[in-house]
Amino acid sequence: MPEGPEMYRVARRISRTLGDAPLVEVWFAFDHLKGWSGRLEAQRLATVRTLGKALLLEFADGVTIYTHNQLYGRWLFSPADRRPDTGRQLRLALSSGERSALLYSASEIDVLAPGSVNEHPFIRRAGLDILSSGANVAEVAAWISRPEFARRQLGHLLLDQSFLAGVGNYLRSEILFIAGLDPTRRPMDLVPTEQAKLAEAARTMMWRSAETGGITNDPQRVRQLKAAGWRRRDYRHFVFSREGQACFLCNGEITRQTVSGRRLYACARCQR
Ligand SMILES: [Zn+2]
Repeated sequence: MPEGPEMYRVARRISRTLGDAPLVEVWFAFDHLKGWSGRLEAQRLATVRTLGKALLLEFADGVTIYTHNQLYGRWLFSPADRRPDTGRQLRLALSSGERSALLYSASEIDVLAPGSVNEHPFIRRAGLDILSSGANVAEVAAWISRPEFARRQLGHLLLDQSFLAGVGNYLRSEILFIAGLDPTRRPMDLVPTEQAKLAEAARTMMWRSAETGGITNDPQRVRQLKAAGWRRRDYRHFVFSREGQACFLCNGEITRQTVSGRRLYACARCQR
């Protein structure tokens, strides 16, 4: 499933594709949403933002389309007079008259009336989205230190979308590695410098992944490894999916375990 940074890129691409002009087409596959088309067509899209792995497309009059790709949803882009060559089922079509942004396959789609966005169950539960909020390190650190998170192990907590929305499975391993923290640590166990490192690591990994399209490893190392002929999947991450390989920092062995039902990778020497 795409994580927050991938959806952040999709949000930017939807904005670029549709621009500021009023939309000429807002089409829904689901019958219960079709009634909204008339109201939304001829309006312009005011903002497109992420909330974790969800997208919020807000129109000029405050009506918001909520989408969540779940496992199979996929946004594709095309000239307005053509549809992409795909066997997928179209769920939502937005068109500026020149270009279209199209959501395909099983996905959650909802239309939220002005002022009701925060009542949506997913949005109500969602935690801090580092990307769309623009939170700085101090703000992320303050969020992490909230009492409701204090007693939960970071390995579990980092997959909970009410903690840091948009962090998924590869980001969990990468954030803990960069912060130098063992997944069994809890926010209440962290000294202030460790807490600051965790906040910094979460912010750095989210933004780097958004900029690079999912590459979390150090940019300079990535350049060197690419030049040496390494494949993307081998240079992409510090630890994720690198079981049995050498840690880039200490040469120790990367291990794999299962936490909250998903695979987690770590370096025992670098993470305490
Ligand atoms: Zn290491």
